[in-house]
Formats: sequence, C-alpha cells, structure tokens
Amino acid sequence: MTTPGTPIRIAVIGSGPAGFYAAGHLLKGSESAVEVDMFERLPTPWGLVRSGVAPDHPKIKSVTRIYEKTAAHPRFRFFGNVELGRDVSREDLLERYHAIVYATGSPKDRPLGIPGEELPGSHAATDFVGWYNGHPDYCDHEFDLSCERAVVIGNGNVALDVARMLTLTHEELACTDVADHALEALDASEIKEIVVVGRRGPAQAAFTNPELLELGELADADVIVSSEELERALAVNDPNMDPTSERNVKVLRDYAQRTPTEKRRRIVLRFLLSPVELRGDEHGVGEIVLGRNELVVGGDGRLRAGDSGERETIATGLVMRAIGYRGVPLPDVPFDERTATIPNEGGRVIGPDGPHRGEYAVGWIKRGPSGVIGTNKKDAQETVDALLSDFSAGALLEPSEPDPDAIEALLRERVPSLVTYEGWSEIDRHEQSLGEPQGRPRVKLTRIEELLRVAAGESLTAEPLDTLGLR
Ligand code: NAP
Repeated sequence: MTTPGTPIRIAVIGSGPAGFYAAGHLLKGSESAVEVDMFERLPTPWGLVRSGVAPDHPKIKSVTRIYEKTAAHPRFRFFGNVELGRDVSREDLLERYHAIVYATGSPKDRPLGIPGEELPGSHAATDFVGWYNGHPDYCDHEFDLSCERAVVIGNGNVALDVARMLTLTHEELACTDVADHALEALDASEIKEIVVVGRRGPAQAAFTNPELLELGELADADVIVSSEELERALAVNDPNMDPTSERNVKVLRDYAQRTPTEKRRRIVLRFLLSPVELRGDEHGVGEIVLGRNELVVGGDGRLRAGDSGERETIATGLVMRAIGYRGVPLPDVPFDERTATIPNEGGRVIGPDGPHRGEYAVGWIKRGPSGVIGTNKKDAQETVDALLSDFSAGALLEPSEPDPDAIEALLRERVPSLVTYEGWSEIDRHEQSLGEPQGRPRVKLTRIEELLRVAAGESLTAEPLDTLGLR
C-alpha cells in the first residue's frame, strides 16, 4: 500500500491498548513506509493496563508483551511526559504528521448527581482504581477504610474490581504490583462488608462471567445474594438477555444457595436499588438512601429502572461510585459532551464543520468506555483501515515539516525531561528489580519526579528522595 521512500508519518496520542493496537496495525499493514510516533502524558506507557487493570489480574496485564513488540519496531518512537495542549498543540502536530490518531481513552468518572455526593468518604471508583494502581495523579488521595461497611454503586466490572480489592488478604495482595501505599492501607482496612448495588436486575448487570465467578473464590470473603431479591428481579422477562447474562444469572443463583462460612469479610450483591442521597456531616458519609426500583420496559424495548417510591437506608462510611468512565475534551479537537467522545464515523473525526482531514479516533474516546481490552484491537483495525484507505485516496494531510527530527527537536526544546522508550525501559527494569526480592512482578514508582529521574538513568538510591523534598 505504501512504498519505501515516501513515508507517511502518524502521531498516535495516548499509549493505552487502543493506541498500541492502532500503532501495531499501522506498522504491520505497511510495506515499509509508515512511521509512528506515540505521545503519552505520563512517563510510562500502557494506559489502563498499568493503571486500571486490578493488581490481582496479572494475566490480563501480560497483554503488554504484544505492545512491547510494537514498541520494538524500528519505525516506532515513544515520547513520554508530553501532553497535548501543554507541550504540543494540535497545530504543531498537523504541521508535522500526515495523520493524528487520538487514543486518549476516558480518564474521568461519571458523577451520580445526587445530594451528598461531595461528602468526605464518597469517591469515584476511578480515583480508587488509580490509587491502588499507583497512578501518579492519584497517589496522594486518601481513602478512610476505618468503617465497617462500604457501598459500591454500579454493576459493571469496575464495581467488582473495587469490591474484590477491598476484600483481598495480605497474602493475595502482597505478591502483586499493587502500589505500596495501597497495600499498607488495605492491610489496615477495617471494612467487613461491601455492598454492591445495581439499579437494575442480575440479568441486566454489565459484569462479565469470569469476574463474577471470581467473587465466589475469594480466600477470606463470602459472597451473599438474597434469593428473594434475585427472583423478584428475574420475574420480569428480559428479551435482550445474551449468553453472558444467562451465565451471570446462573452464577448468582448458585451464590444465593450458599451458606455463608465465617470468613472475615463479605460481599453482598444487591439489585433494583438506585442511590438517592448520601447523608452525613463534615466528617463524612454516614448513610446512603437507596430507592427501590421496578423493571419497566423503556421506549427502546430495553428494561430500565423505574422508581417505586420505596426507600431503604444503609449505614456506611465509604461510598464508591463505579457507574462508568467519561472522556475529556482535547484542545481544539471536536468533542461531543453528551457521549464524552470525539465525534467520528468509523474512526474519521467529524467536527461541526464536517470531516477533519487526517484526524482519527480510536478506543474509548472513539466509542465510549465499553468492552474489554481485546475489543480495542478490532476497533483499532477499523480506524487504521479508514486511515490507510484515505492515504490511498490521497486524502491525508500534507505536513510542512515531515522530517522526523523536526518534532524531536521541538519536543527536546519544550520538554527537557522527555521520556523515550529507552527511558521507559529504565523505569521498567528499576521497578522489576525492586519487586524481585519481594516475589512481586514490580514495585511501582508513583511520583512523576521519581519516574523522570529513573528514566534519565539516575539512581534513586544515590540521594534519598526525602532530602530532595520529593517525598
Ligand atoms: P460499565 O460496564 O458500563 O458499568 C456501569 C454500571 O453502572 C452499570 O451497571 C450501570 O447500570 C451502572 N450505572 C450507570 N449509571 C448509573 C446511575 N446513575 N445509578 C446507578 N447505576 C448506574 O462500566 P465500568 O464498570 O466502569 O466498566 C467500563 C468498561 O471497562 C466495561 O466495558 C468493563 O467491562 C471494562 N472493564 C473490564 C474489566 C475486566 O475485564 N476485568 C475490569 C474493569 C473494567 P445500567 O446498566 O443500568 O446502565
């Protein structure tokens, strides 16, 4: 499709699964003349694989081996610690690349919009996930785990990750790459019960089967489901049930039959309940008011939650909302506030003024926060197919400064602590070497300053961070 000597240069913004699958497809699909530069805000790559996937899911994280192969490609470069809008503008990129692929994901949480949501002790699950995974933006967050009961709102896999993380024993966690600050806090947690609240029924839950099954196998936590509540929710037939929901229902019916053993903690799965209000005072949340729902058929034929008017109050000191992620706008790039995505057709960016030549979107910022990591592979293929077909049609950009050295010179001038892939490899080696004696895959560095120093080849042990005021 492309010929040597006429390289097309692509900027990929974001180094999570979507960005890496797009880069991989681009480099594989070309004869020799596609060059990919990947820009990442953090000094570290892998997006949610590093900072979203739960620490006790190492198999899922091993997908990075595929991304490492892409990164080793001679026509791939990684530019970490570079933020679009702060260090480079869209204009800078339009002048230097034949196309830009936005792969920035959905980094923010969705709010519930109920009274009391801002009380201390009420958190976005996204913050908790970033915190236990050592994401630099969240390492200073504090989660008070001194109460007996936590409530997690939502029936997706993030809700299950959060609930499970709150129950894991020291032995289950200490062999993972969980952030050290989180390991310490979770070890000291006094939480005994985690109530996971779904606004619809078990047949409408967004959990996937392995994640739900995992709850039944925890070392020191029982899973509790009320048979009565389950059957009440299942009394309304859902014509849209798929094999995943059918299997979920089977698993939940099995859980409902279990007799709790005297494990240290319990996860209680509740259904047909919507959060209405959080009550408490300046010290924090004290209770959550839940509205009991009935399943009603919506205009689109899907079952939705209808408020019955009945209320239930649960005492809790910790509430996590796990009701989905949200994309954020990028400077000068079209954005649809309603879907929190970049408007696009099959990956081609469409602004209010029509198609944006040479601009593409991939992953969650393209389609919203849905699917598992592998979903992004197919999604990226669609975007890359569109891009390559536009290339064949002569419909990419014509940059004025396509020389690969030009962008690097600009970045080195503006970002003195630019992190290349070699810099990331230094971080990777350092983290793994810290983890090895402890039998852990790695010990994550969680401070930008530390990451940048290690990326630059400095030894952290040479001068204690404390004396440099970095801790
Ligand atoms: P999700 O799968 O979209 O689930 C969101 C949940 O929040 C749904 O149960 C939804 O209920 C509920 N919800 C939305 N608005 C609500 C409201 N106002 N009040 C009460 N409940 C509300 O989102 P997620 O859990 O954040 O996961 C995001 C994506 O990442 C998913 O595709 C997920 O599978 C993936 N993920 C995968 C893994 C894994 O593979 N292990 C781990 C984590 C995340 P309704 O259905 O009624 O809207």
